[in-house]
Amino acid sequence: MHDILIIGAGPAGMTAAIYARRAGKTVLVLEAGSFGGQIINTPEIENYPAAAHISGYDFATRLYDQAVELGAEFVFEKAVGVTDSGSEKTVVTTKNSYTARAVIIATGSENRKLGLPEEDKLVGRGISYCATCDGAFYRGKTAAVVGGGNTALEDALYLSDLAEKVYLIHRRESFRGEAATLAKLREKPNVTFILGSNVTKLNAGKKLNSIEVTDSSGAVTELAVDGLFVAVGRTPENQNFAAVMELDAAGYAVAGEDCKTASAGIFVAGDNRTKAVRQLVTAAADGAVAATAAVHYLEAVSQ
Ligand code: NAP
Repeated sequence: MHDILIIGAGPAGMTAAIYARRAGKTVLVLEAGSFGGQIINTPEIENYPAAAHISGYDFATRLYDQAVELGAEFVFEKAVGVTDSGSEKTVVTTKNSYTARAVIIATGSENRKLGLPEEDKLVGRGISYCATCDGAFYRGKTAAVVGGGNTALEDALYLSDLAEKVYLIHRRESFRGEAATLAKLREKPNVTFILGSNVTKLNAGKKLNSIEVTDSSGAVTELAVDGLFVAVGRTPENQNFAAVMELDAAGYAVAGEDCKTASAGIFVAGDNRTKAVRQLVTAAADGAVAATAAVHYLEAVSQ
């Protein structure tokens, strides 16, 4: 039995692992995919204090190396449930089950889809949710990005250096993403902004050929594109853990800045928690807070 089991090896989970190990606790991190979480897809991080101009991949790798060096164990299995028997918590994965005295759920979020017919079928054939993963396929071609948050702005900026033409399509006139990134994007001559519009249809044969965009007046425009990068936000990955923590209407785990859930010894850290600001720096902060709270919990129950 480990002292602290952490579900999710994104910035929140791996920061929690670092803090828990430095407090002398045994730590197991479970991860369904590869370490790094969402940040691994960010081409360049520019807003993490004192770490400007580092790629998301390098940042995640450094974080992983740091946690491993401190003695955190990593197992790459998908956690599908947690049961709480008070002093012992059991985490079930698709392959095994593991016990721990405290659990930190740091599962982050997954890509939201547009929900258009054919969207799923066209993934890898014109539809992508990751510009840094798939952008190179669109070198010299025409790509579109849909969304108005930081991911969409960063994706469009990244693609503008590869693709011949980039459309940035957003349903409103103003953006959620950072003004600094938007300013850089506005300087790119090969980026066309299509605002107040939604992508309403995907036209494809074997692969995506064009998209239809509908503006607020109902006018439909067909755009020939080779690829569409969907960056319309994320949904929290908490569904498997609803038995041990309360979820709000949008599916986020209800917990304050102390990262405590209503279940003693179960904590939540990162983008899957109810919070106002979801950034790398706040994910890392949650990891530190949750691990410290878990350490205090373990010390209190062992007295
Ligand atoms: P986000 O900030 O939630 O933005 C999602 C965007 O998609 C919004 O502009 C939203 O429009 C639009 N949208 C949502 N559903 C839509 C739909 N069905 N059809 C069309 N448009 C839709 O998501 P994100 O950009 O993925 O970012 C997630 C979090 O990660 C944010 O907190 C972001 O700041 C953070 N992030 C940070 C960095 C960084 O710090 N470098 C990089 C990437 C992401 P409305 O604006 O109209 O709601």
